[in-house]
Amino acid sequence: MTARVLVVDDLLPNVKLLEARLTAEYFDVITATNGLDAIALCKEGRCDIVLLDVMMPGIDGFETCRRLKADHTTAHLPVVMVTALDQIADRVRGLEAGADDFLTKPVDEVALIARVRSLARLKVAIDELRARAASSARLGRNDPFAAASAADGLNGRVLLVDDRQSSSERIVKSLRNLQTVEIETNPQDALFRAAEESFDLAIVSLGLTNYDGLRLCSQMRSLERTRGLPLLLIADLDDRPKVLRGLDLGVNDYLMRPIESNELVARVGSQIRRKRYADKLRDNVEHAIEMAVIDGLTGLNNRLYFDTNLPTMLEQAAQSARPLSLLVLDIDHFKLVNDTYGHDSGDEVLRALAARVRRAVRGIDLVCRLGGEEFVIVMPETPIHVAARVAERVRRSVEAEPFQVRGGTVSIPVTISAGIAERGEAASAELLYKFADQALYESKSHGRNRITLAAAA
Ligand code: GH3
Ligand code: MG
Ligand code: MG
Repeated sequence: MTARVLVVDDLLPNVKLLEARLTAEYFDVITATNGLDAIALCKEGRCDIVLLDVMMPGIDGFETCRRLKADHTTAHLPVVMVTALDQIADRVRGLEAGADDFLTKPVDEVALIARVRSLARLKVAIDELRARAASSARLGRNDPFAAASAADGLNGRVLLVDDRQSSSERIVKSLRNLQTVEIETNPQDALFRAAEESFDLAIVSLGLTNYDGLRLCSQMRSLERTRGLPLLLIADLDDRPKVLRGLDLGVNDYLMRPIESNELVARVGSQIRRKRYADKLRDNVEHAIEMAVIDGLTGLNNRLYFDTNLPTMLEQAAQSARPLSLLVLDIDHFKLVNDTYGHDSGDEVLRALAARVRRAVRGIDLVCRLGGEEFVIVMPETPIHVAARVAERVRRSVEAEPFQVRGGTVSIPVTISAGIAERGEAASAELLYKFADQALYESKSHGRNRITLAAAA
């Protein structure tokens, strides 16, 4: 896995050292010697990961990180703070500024590569989501990134897998009032619960009796249901090689014992915030894809959906030599409804009419609102004379009962006209629609509130 790494340090020898090590592992490296240059490079989209020195003249590493995380064009970039001192206070300040990770100078080579690799993997996943979110945003939704960046890391549900009571008690105490922590002492039960329930983070102790915590992590990474769950390891100093293995397996972060309470709080918060960022983007994408084919007023499928699906449905009917009919319907004198009762009442009529049409047809029939007061019903497996009976049923159900609007205080009589065509030997979707629409026109010109069958089909 390769990535473009931005190394930021005011001292050139430090830059050169990190650059050499990363280049040797085939990462692409670009460099900056101050915070403002670094921010500019990030905003230009020139890097995937930032290694950021803390002590720099001008704006320091904390402030640089804060600005990157506050700007939703750069907030998703993983930032690793490189601190001269292994000071807990610095770490906590960094995490509060939104840093994703830390390395202590002199930088340990193995830790450096493991960290950068694990963040590179994360970045790839986030990039893919962002690309999908960006294309869904073009389908008309407002900025999905701004909403996702607003995610916080509080009030999460944390699964703590630890069988040492003294240890788990300390962790629960640190996180109390900020997160809800549930303890699980049995690793297999933990895996089951992680898959079945919705947690925001799992904390796994590497000190479990007779069980390798990494095995649990690897199982969580391979299960579909738990793949997106952030994992935080709690390790003893001599577990270091295992921690590195863990990061390779996809563990997101780790803490060494003795656990420093503020650092635990900050790391847990930052993992939960990151997960929520990804979840929100994902929801956004799914929602946008759904919304793109749904008419907002009636909840029916829209023209885009109809245009994309009718050719497929026709093709299927042709392949199995089955009939298929298309009905186009339009409300009569709808302009008058708006003019008389107001546009809002018109909208209410459209919504109620959509519901009535839905009730009058079968589940496999496709009802769409093409726009305005024009609807279509695609009826698979249906020859035109059967479709005519369905159309009559719809027409009568509309005519039979006036529409009650404004909480039932106003009653509006409505009728519809329709045209139907059946797929012919050569009919394309466009032709089929054209025949049905011409038949609808016939209904209109012959007095409305009626159904006409297309002659040509
Ligand atoms: P016809 O019987 O010939 O179809 O007459 P009509 O008045 O129904 O047809 P026309 O095409 O002249 O007018 C359609 C009206 O539908 C005009 C427009 O204001 C109204 N309309 C279109 N979309 C909406 C909508 O989303 N909500 C409301 N309330 N009215 C709409
Ligand atoms: Mg009309
Ligand atoms: Mg019209």
